[in-house]
Amino acid sequence: MTLKQRDYQWQNWVGTQKSVADLYEPVDLVDLKNDVKTASAKPPVRALGGGFSWSALVNADGGSLISTAKLDRVLQIDRAGGTLAVEAGITIKELAQVALDNGLALHSPPIFDGMTLGGVLAVGGHGTGQGLGTMSDSIDELTIVTPDGTERTLRNTDPELESAATGLGLLGIIYSVKLRCEPAYNVQIEKGYVSNQCLVTHLDDLLESYEFVDLYWYLSGDRVWVRLGNRTSAPADPPNLHSISEVARDQLIQLAGGAVLPPLVSRFPDLTQRLIRFIFDKVIDPPANNLDFLPQSLTAVDRHRFFERQWTRFSNAVGRAVRTVVEPRAIEVVDSRRAAHYIDGIFESLTSEFAVETDKAADIWRSTVEFVRDETAPGARYAYAVNLTVHARFVNASALPLNPATGRKTCYIEVVTIVGTRHAQPFLNAFHDFMMKRPGNARPHWGKVFKDNDPSLDEIRLRYDDRSSQQFSSHRRSIDPSNALVNKLLETLKK
Ligand SMILES: Cc1cc2nc3c(=O)[nH]c(=O)nc-3n(C[C@H](O)[C@H](O)[C@H](O)COP(=O)(O)OP(=O)(O)OC[C@H]3O[C@@H](n4cnc5c(N)ncnc54)[C@H](O)[C@@H]3O)c2cc1C
Repeated sequence: MTLKQRDYQWQNWVGTQKSVADLYEPVDLVDLKNDVKTASAKPPVRALGGGFSWSALVNADGGSLISTAKLDRVLQIDRAGGTLAVEAGITIKELAQVALDNGLALHSPPIFDGMTLGGVLAVGGHGTGQGLGTMSDSIDELTIVTPDGTERTLRNTDPELESAATGLGLLGIIYSVKLRCEPAYNVQIEKGYVSNQCLVTHLDDLLESYEFVDLYWYLSGDRVWVRLGNRTSAPADPPNLHSISEVARDQLIQLAGGAVLPPLVSRFPDLTQRLIRFIFDKVIDPPANNLDFLPQSLTAVDRHRFFERQWTRFSNAVGRAVRTVVEPRAIEVVDSRRAAHYIDGIFESLTSEFAVETDKAADIWRSTVEFVRDETAPGARYAYAVNLTVHARFVNASALPLNPATGRKTCYIEVVTIVGTRHAQPFLNAFHDFMMKRPGNARPHWGKVFKDNDPSLDEIRLRYDDRSSQQFSSHRRSIDPSNALVNKLLETLKK
C-alpha cells in the first residue's frame, strides 16, 4: 500500500477547487490494485492526474485520491500496427514525443500538453482536426482497476469499453491505455487575420477546405486570428530564428504574464484588456498577415494564392535570406506534434467551453463574440470579465456515450480569462446559460469551468441521448456497484 499522506489538502492548478482526502501514490499495477481496494473503504475514491481540470471532478472530500504521477511508463510500441501502450499517468507532452520518435501521430491531442493521458481521456479531451474525433475515440484497449481491487482489460469486444473511454473517473481507475495512432504526418499551416463578418459568411467553405481550423478572437474589434491547416507530403520547415524565438517568447510571456497579470486583473481591469490586445496584435502576430483574405466568393485556391503572395513577397535574394531567418511564417509546414501543441506558454486562466453542432457553428460563433463584447464592455454588467480570448476548434463526431462530441460533427467554443479577473465567475455563469439556450445542443466540456452553485448535472445529462446515458449508467453500475468512485459533482450520473 502506498498511502502518501492522510488528510492531504489538494487543490487544482489554479486553486479554484480544493478538497481534503487521503492521498495514495502507486508506482505499479500491484500497488494500484492494493491502493484502490484499501481506499474503497473510505469513499469517494477519485483518480488524480495533473489536477488541470477546473470543474469539481477530482474532489474527494473525506475520501481518497489515487495519484497517477508515478504511473507514467511506456509499455509497448508497435510501429507496424500503429499502436502505443502506456500507463495512464504519462503526460501528453511525453506521449506526443514518444509517438513522433516512433513515426506515429496521436489523434486529436489537446493544445496544452501538461495534462496526463488518463485525465484527458476521462473528460473526452480533444484538439483540432475534422478528420479526427476526440482522443478517447482512438482507444484500442484500457486496463482499469475496479473498486474491489480487480484488474480488468477492456477490449473492443467488451461493451464497457465505450463508456470507460470517456469515463469521468467513474468506470474504474485507468491503469494503462493502448492507443491507435496514425503514421506521423506533416501539416501545412496558414495563419492570418480575417474580419468576423467575412469569417461567419465563409465558415462553411473554410471547414470544407481545411481539416484543421482554429479561430481566436482576442477582443480586438472585428478581427479574428485564424490558423488553418491541411496534411501535406512536404517536409517540415526547419526552425528559423523566428520560430525558435516564438517558443522563447511564449515561455517568457508565461513567466511574465504569470507574475504580472493575476495581480493586474483585479486592480486595473481595463488596462489588462488593453495589454492583452497589445501582446496579441503587436507581439504574437504582428500585422504582416493582417488582411481580410476572405473577400466574398474567394475560393480555397484563391486563398492559397493570397498566402503564397504573403510568403513570397520578399522575392529577391536578400529578401529571401532575411525571410528564411527571421520572418514570421504566414505559411509553414510543421510535424503533427507541433500542429497540435503550437502554444508553449499558458497563463493561469479560467476557461469555460461548450461543444456544439458544427452545422450551427457560424451562428453560435457570431453570437458568442457579440455576447462577450456586449456583456464585458466598460460599464456593462460584467465589465472586463474576459481578457484573453474566445477560441473555436472543430473535430469529427465521437461514438462514445458521454463524450461531448458524441453523435455529431462538433465545434468547441471556449471563453478564456485570467485567474483573479473581477466578475469572471458570474460572467461564466451567464455564458453557461447563454450557451445552453442556443441552438446546437451545447454540452459543456466536463473538465472546464462549470456554472457556479449548480452542481446538478441533470440538465447537462439531457443533452445526451437517452440510449447513451442509459448505456453509461449501466456500465458504471457493473464496474462500481457500491458507488465508491462517485463524488458530489457526479451524483446525478449514478441514476
Ligand atoms: C491550460 C489548459 C489547456 C487545456 N487545453 C485543453 C484542450 O486543448 N482540449 C481539451 O479537451 N481540454 C483541455 N484542457 C482541459 C484538460 O484536458 C482536462 O481538464 C483534463 O482532464 C486535465 O487532465 P489532468 O491530467 O490534469 O486530469 P485531472 O484534472 O487530474 O482529472 C480530470 C478527471 O480525470 C479523472 N482521471 C484522471 N486520471 C485518471 C485515471 N487514470 N483513471 C480514471 N480517471 C482519471 C479524474 O478523476 C477527473 O475526473 C486544458 C486545461 C488547461 C489547464
